[in-house]
Amino acid sequence: MSVTAQSSATGVPPFGADELDRPMLIGGSWVGAVGGEWIEVDSPGRRGLVIARVPRGQDADADRAVTAARAAYPAWAALHFKDRQKALLQIADALEAAAEELSVLTAWDTGNALRPQARPESQTLANLFRYFGGIAGEFKGAVLPAGDDQLQYTRREPLGVVAGILPWNSPLMIAGMKVPAALAAGNVIILKAAEAAPLTILRMAEIASEFLPDGVLNVLTGFGPEVGEALVQHRGVDKVSFTGSSKVGHHVAEAAGARLAHVSLELGGKSPNIVFPSAAAPEHIEATAVGVLTAMRFTRQGQSCTAGSRLFIHESVYEAFLEVLVAKVSALKVGDPLDEATDMGAIINQKQFDQVTSYIEDGRSQPGVRVVLDASKDIPAGLDGFYQGPTIFAQVDNSWRIAQEEIFGPVLVAIPWSDRDDVIRMANDSHYGLAAYIWSRDLNEALDTAHRIESGWVQVNQGGGQMIGQSYGGYKTSGIGREFSLEGALESFTQIKQINVKLD
Ligand code: NAD
Repeated sequence: MSVTAQSSATGVPPFGADELDRPMLIGGSWVGAVGGEWIEVDSPGRRGLVIARVPRGQDADADRAVTAARAAYPAWAALHFKDRQKALLQIADALEAAAEELSVLTAWDTGNALRPQARPESQTLANLFRYFGGIAGEFKGAVLPAGDDQLQYTRREPLGVVAGILPWNSPLMIAGMKVPAALAAGNVIILKAAEAAPLTILRMAEIASEFLPDGVLNVLTGFGPEVGEALVQHRGVDKVSFTGSSKVGHHVAEAAGARLAHVSLELGGKSPNIVFPSAAAPEHIEATAVGVLTAMRFTRQGQSCTAGSRLFIHESVYEAFLEVLVAKVSALKVGDPLDEATDMGAIINQKQFDQVTSYIEDGRSQPGVRVVLDASKDIPAGLDGFYQGPTIFAQVDNSWRIAQEEIFGPVLVAIPWSDRDDVIRMANDSHYGLAAYIWSRDLNEALDTAHRIESGWVQVNQGGGQMIGQSYGGYKTSGIGREFSLEGALESFTQIKQINVKLD
């Protein structure tokens, strides 16, 4: 299933006409759906171009995958950790060797631009396999000092069969949060790839499965309400690790909760970016503007759960900061995801494009709003895809829809503030609580704010992505549970068994 060399920046699609069908991985075999149906996969950067077809998995396919995973589970769980570690480290090396191929496929599959986005995503995937391989021996228990006639100890045991449900916005990175962590702890996993971007997940599985016993890693494709729902409902699935929208996440939690399966949720966000005057002083203003641009994830078309999409700027630096920011953001080049020069690729599909457009229209219609950057119609010449340049609204009220709802597109709203307590109140006035970004050169001010923000992850004076090993997860409706880290993996993919022994 490897991507041909031609499929790089030349724009030749990744698969030839006779190799469009990309089957699923169940129990070590590459298979179509039991029902025989296929779903067409489009490329966001080229409207209407079908680049692959994937099986339309249904209940019977979920069932097959669970059976295969359950069969593989006892032997995988019983291994010495060094054997799981070896496999994960081998996979990390193989993924690293294939990183460029995976990056090109990411650009085709997701519309994320090759240079700023797709390459870092595939590198992060390899890094995550290496990280979790490295800590595979840390899934260990503790011994209680309970006297010489007692041996009281705990074992960190795997949960069993994990269903990892993935979104389309950065599939490899999200898979990297789930697969190596779950496997290192001794679980087996069934991934459900997003219907809008399943191709990199299938290719990742092809590379990884070379180093794993059959059934330890399985991948299903198909629609969420069909094969995704079947997995969530399946009694043979011990844990559901879901990343996606808060709406579907609520439903998944209910359905998995109804049968008391373990569940963790990484959901949406509407994260605040708070600019204090000190960060907009002449010597810092450029760096802060670049940081805010990064935090907004403009180079992923704003399609990020951690996008700092509510920008609170202190009124004393409001206009000056906006001016620098707008200059930086308007310099971004919207274009073909496969072009090295592109800063912003394409939005995933028509549905998402229409949703972003409707939020922009809603923003424009608000009384008193100022559109300080309107590049939504900036589209690259000669390309027909879901392209949309960035939009920045100023003088926004925190109660408006564009300030409260997750747009999941390149739309930033700027809100003035004057009082620290008040900006913290506004930042927390959201049902989301995933990330936050604080820009201040005053440590006390920055940390006081960081501690009072209701978010699972706060960054000070930087806006980049998650760093390997950090705790990652949301407050409020942004999720339940943590991933990305050792403690996240312990919490998400193990359970504790206590053993008490009476010694003579
Ligand atoms: P989505 O919720 O529509 O879909 C996510 C996955 O769930 C897909 O694979 C989909 O097929 C599946 N699904 C849909 N209905 C299902 C059901 N009834 N049962 C089981 N599975 C079902 O989300 P999306 O549009 O793919 O992704 C965008 C959303 O994901 C945004 O809200 C974004 O914030 C969120 N996200 C969160 C994080 C995070 O780490 N917190 C990361 C990336 C994306």
